[in-house]
Amino acid sequence: MNNYDCVIVGSGPAGFGTAFELLKADPSAAVLILEKAEVSTGGLRNDCKMNFSWPIGFPTGVWQQDQAESYLERVIHFLKPDILAKHNLGIYSRRAARLGVQLMDIRQAHLGTDGGLELIRHLTKSYTDMGGEWATGEEMTGFCDPIDGTDIRIQTTHREIKCKNLVLATGRGGFRFLQSVMDDIGIPYIDHIVDIGVRIELKEERYPIVQDYYDPKFVFPRGVRTFCTNSRSAYVVRERYTNADGQPYFSVNGHAWSEKRAQNGLANFAMLKTVRLTEPLASGQDFAEMLGLQAMLLGGGKPLMQRIGDFRLGKRSKTESFNGDLYDFEPTLKGCTPGDVSLAMPAKILREIWKALKSLDTIIPGVLHPSTIIYYPEIKLYANKPTFRDDFFQVSDNIYMIGDGAGTSRGITAAWASGIRAADGIRASGN
Ligand SMILES: Cc1cc2nc3c(=O)[nH]c(=O)nc-3n(C[C@H](O)[C@H](O)[C@H](O)COP(=O)(O)OP(=O)(O)OC[C@H]3O[C@@H](n4cnc5c(N)ncnc54)[C@H](O)[C@@H]3O)c2cc1C
Repeated sequence: MNNYDCVIVGSGPAGFGTAFELLKADPSAAVLILEKAEVSTGGLRNDCKMNFSWPIGFPTGVWQQDQAESYLERVIHFLKPDILAKHNLGIYSRRAARLGVQLMDIRQAHLGTDGGLELIRHLTKSYTDMGGEWATGEEMTGFCDPIDGTDIRIQTTHREIKCKNLVLATGRGGFRFLQSVMDDIGIPYIDHIVDIGVRIELKEERYPIVQDYYDPKFVFPRGVRTFCTNSRSAYVVRERYTNADGQPYFSVNGHAWSEKRAQNGLANFAMLKTVRLTEPLASGQDFAEMLGLQAMLLGGGKPLMQRIGDFRLGKRSKTESFNGDLYDFEPTLKGCTPGDVSLAMPAKILREIWKALKSLDTIIPGVLHPSTIIYYPEIKLYANKPTFRDDFFQVSDNIYMIGDGAGTSRGITAAWASGIRAADGIRASGN
């Protein structure tokens, strides 16, 4: 069958959010999820840390607090997460407040990379049991015909498909694809916000807050924040991206395994600065990609890493910096070049991140131990924020854009919520 009530492109949390909501409301609906990989590739599959409190993951331009909280309740009702307990936050919050830093109190659950894969398997089975259809290893490449508003005809790597509603949930990795779709059907968009920063790796004993609060969210002045903290069995990884001209660059990231795996005594977290380009308005993605390529140039095609001990002395790290007695742990990311982060990072971003790190070291003394490693770059390309024509993320007749790729989320739970919101729109339209 190549004719559906709804085709959802992308099997991340945004796509799942729409799919389950549509099938719950109408079990006879013909719903297809199209996924170019063999399995969902986003955050569900990597670490799967879930935040259930406003405003984490919710871009404030498209969400109000009340609205987000009511959708979050629906996400919780469906996913039934085990919310992690938090302890002893008072002392950290008081120290933070004295420095003008906020420690946000967020409800969290953590499945780990292995737990996330189990969740994907469970979701896939439930979706199929509810009558939903899957097509993995199949990519949407574009539209077939001019869209006439009733039936939408899309082209995939395998076939032509007709549908009444199309939901594009292609995630951050699909942002170029989304751009091409918006260009094709004439939807204006902007992409002027980007997060750029570093990943910090250190001994867990030097960041003991993680035993009290799994992913502590510190918000520093001037758009700097901690992000995606991993501990217990934590690793730094690198992800390969290509820019518009096909040139490759890496962004670092982090993940942890569930508690079933052996602990490695390390923790890692990102320290990110949000950069908003204004006059003259330029593409945040192009800017961030240029920085990614510059880091590749200096790192000989790999990300850079530098020990805090070297950074403080204003000298580059060398292979020896990763062997000496002061430097008391090995980096978990092997494909990285010891170097000088300050040579690669724009001064303004580096200055703000370094200030934030010094504040964090005052709140939790030990963070800036000489052995702590700074990895660069960690780049979060969020969205080509489309112009939405209604409150349900509809961009053109019966075409919806949701999730991280469309700027309606910045995390698993908000992506899921935006999927439910699009499903509400489809149901309200009666199409
Ligand atoms: C390594 C990593 C770890 C992360 N860890 C966390 C975390 O622990 N907690 C958290 O809240 N967030 C995390 N995130 C962010 C999180 O992944 C996203 O916020 C969330 O997954 C966004 O959901 P989405 O549905 O918009 O997109 P995604 O989850 O990215 O899903 C998009 C899907 O669309 C598919 N796709 C793209 N283009 C096409 C096409 N043309 N045709 C068919 N299929 C296509 C992709 O293969 C992908 O499976 C992480 C991200 C990464 C990269």
